[in-house]
Amino acid sequence: MIDKIFPETLKILSTLIKFKTTSGTSNLELIKYCEKKLEEVGAKSFKTFNESGSQANLFSTIGDKDNSNNKGIILSGHTDVVPALSSEWTSDPYISREKDNKVYGRGTCDMKGFIACTLAVAPLFASKKLKVPIHFSYTFDEETGCLGAPFVLADLKKRNVNFSACIIGEPTRMKAITAHKGYNEYITHFTGLSGHASNPENGISAIEYAIRYSNKLIELRDELKKRNSKKTSFSPSYSTLQIGKISGGIGANVIPDQCSLEWEVRPINKDDGDFVSKNIDSFAKDILLPEMKKNNPKGNIKKEIIGEVVGFNKEEKSEAANLVCNLTGDNAKETMSFGTEAGLFQNSGISTVICGPGSIEQAHTVDEYITFDQLKKCLKMLISLQEKMVN
Ligand SMILES: [Zn+2]
Repeated sequence: MIDKIFPETLKILSTLIKFKTTSGTSNLELIKYCEKKLEEVGAKSFKTFNESGSQANLFSTIGDKDNSNNKGIILSGHTDVVPALSSEWTSDPYISREKDNKVYGRGTCDMKGFIACTLAVAPLFASKKLKVPIHFSYTFDEETGCLGAPFVLADLKKRNVNFSACIIGEPTRMKAITAHKGYNEYITHFTGLSGHASNPENGISAIEYAIRYSNKLIELRDELKKRNSKKTSFSPSYSTLQIGKISGGIGANVIPDQCSLEWEVRPINKDDGDFVSKNIDSFAKDILLPEMKKNNPKGNIKKEIIGEVVGFNKEEKSEAANLVCNLTGDNAKETMSFGTEAGLFQNSGISTVICGPGSIEQAHTVDEYITFDQLKKCLKMLISLQEKMVN
């Protein structure tokens, strides 16, 4: 069976790579292609859009979705990819290239490879009556803070559809991932007052305030380490905080009026994320801002939220994880430290697991690739799912 479906998978993957679906740009052409492919085999689809209508989520169902006793299974993937600089790549990132049993191209591993596998197996799912429906969920803008998924989840809630499990095909080398930390990313902007360095009292150094803010963040980072004495399954075991970039100033003899700080938190639970936000916000508002504004009413501190991706928590008895382990024959359950849409699906009451082809080491890289072997392992899992659904 795999030998029949695999060439088709490669063909679909090379088409998907051609759609340049960088996060934040339109994915409508790709969605149209997927929708057509699924409708050709009888799937029923609906779409949800971003505010401007330039991006869409596709949700398609094969099988009897109206029978509410039949709780279906969702196969979920994001359609956006991170940017690629053609000049850095060996060949065009948007034209798939096969070499040494690997497919190269932006999104091959994260995660158009998985989407290609699901589309290639769709005719098989449609060929027999299924015990429960199979749903295909393709979202936009996952890479920039999971912006697309909430639209489709809100819509499903309105439609009152029930699900028994969701498999998110992010690259995990086909291992079942049952938890990951949250991911919160921020840029804090400081506005001071410029002036000649010979008289610092007349200006307000944005850099000085950014440093004091940083010191508070470091204090909070150390507290995060102490907050959870229990060992968790994550590595490291506690919530982390990292300051990644500081920019501001033009030279030693000018008081800098602008500075910005880029930083992130990877909380093991929502409380830890809230703890950091609450403390740093009140430090800025109650301590730093009144001092800044004393000499300059325009003095300001603004925390910009780049993304707050909710964590994915271990489920006590995970229907989704058990299903995947059963299908792959691999009972190892692991955790990881990068963010996905899993927490959003889980918070909607759907048992969720992450399991997909390719390795996270190749995601977001120059010359991103996926191996034939990983694609075949994924096809094998999906074919076993189909067999399980008809017997
Ligand atoms: Zn991804």
